[in-house]
Amino acid sequence: MDAQNGRIKGEAKKALRAVIEKYGIPVTITANQNLILQEIEPAAKPDVLAMLAAGGIRDVAEWDSLERTSMACPALPLCGLAVTEAERGLPDINVRIRALLTKLGFGADTTFIVRMTGCPNGCARPYMAELGFVGDGPNSYQVYIGGNPNQTRLSELYADRVKVKDLEAFLEPIFVHYRDNR
Ligand code: SF4
Repeated sequence: MDAQNGRIKGEAKKALRAVIEKYGIPVTITANQNLILQEIEPAAKPDVLAMLAAGGIRDVAEWDSLERTSMACPALPLCGLAVTEAERGLPDINVRIRALLTKLGFGADTTFIVRMTGCPNGCARPYMAELGFVGDGPNSYQVYIGGNPNQTRLSELYADRVKVKDLEAFLEPIFVHYRDNR
């Protein structure tokens, strides 16, 4: 199920609603676009997991860590201030980043916080990401690097006008430096 970047729809939404209503589960909405289902009785857990799985909701262990921790703003077509994609663009960007990391010999456990917004207003907090993309034109982004995993350090602007089509060529030297010198 595609439930990235705060989007829950279709069968997944129905399954979530059904399980919450059936068991009266308290839900917390987090600032990282996640839902936390709380106070589930251990005896109910298998049924809860089965109901969610039937709705296409993947177990947390099945998500790539880049997908699980990344975040994007709505941007196009929902936000009138957007100059480029964010919510719809980030899933593919994550896949491309993972493929590049694999090609460069990083293990599957290599991960960092990726954020993307469709304009500089920064509604998905790209300025605190370890790798932040801020829309600065059609299919084009400023790239910020240097945040930390728990979001207590601001990143710094590293490049302007990086085109999506050039993503791998742009990121490869950065990742190689990270691999060899971190
Ligand atoms: S960061 Fe810009 S494009 Fe994204 S939701 Fe905020 S104002 Fe809209």
